[in-house]
Amino acid sequence: MNNNYVKCPVCDLNYMHSGERCCEVCDPKAQGRLISTAAQADDEYRYTKLQEYDARKRSMEAYRAYRWNRAQRR
Ligand SMILES: [Zn+2]
Repeated sequence: MNNNYVKCPVCDLNYMHSGERCCEVCDPKAQGRLISTAAQADDEYRYTKLQEYDARKRSMEAYRAYRWNRAQRR
């Protein structure tokens, strides 16, 4: 067992066990949380784009319905 403390190579700030890849702050679990946050932002962006597209489609349908009703009246 090697219990020597070395500086974390990722942040070069915190100390960690020499056997570890990085300190607790740079833990892959913490990085995974950041990645999932980015994925969530991407999902929200896609959802916003989808809503935009849906709204545009609906307004086109309303426009066509309006034209159709006017044409019928003549
Ligand atoms: Zn670190």
